[in-house]
Amino acid sequence: TIGMLAIDAKGNISGACTTSGMAFKLRGRVGDSPIIGAGLYVDNEVGGATSTGVGEEVIRNVGSFLVVELMRQGYAPEDACKEAVKRIIKKKPETAKNIQVGFLAINKKGEYGAYAIQQGFSFAVCNAEKQDLLVPGKSFY
Ligand code: ASP
Repeated sequence: TIGMLAIDAKGNISGACTTSGMAFKLRGRVGDSPIIGAGLYVDNEVGGATSTGVGEEVIRNVGSFLVVELMRQGYAPEDACKEAVKRIIKKKPETAKNIQVGFLAINKKGEYGAYAIQQGFSFAVCNAEKQDLLVPGKSFY
């Protein structure tokens, strides 16, 4: 999945995501990316979030919506992503050892963060001060 979150000079937030789905997926499978609240969610009052990885687990936890709601409660973007990852792990600890799910989030202040189950999830940042093309995201394992 490629998920993108943006904030403009007026503080308006937008997001988009695209995916080819999972390798060897069943015909007709719908992943998380096309489902608002799962693979992508933006609330312009709070922030936005997007996900990558095994969509079934993201859908089960309404992951991107969860991240945005956690930010609404005051979580920083990275902490909100971490909490959503922890929820996925808590529900299926054995499955989670062998899958990847990562979240990326931005809030109204333009603060951003990411968190994944497994190592190797990185993201790019582009703003007036920074064009950093490989920010390593933190991970549970
Ligand atoms: N999240 C996507 C899906 O489950 C897979 C991906 O990360 O590309 O369809």
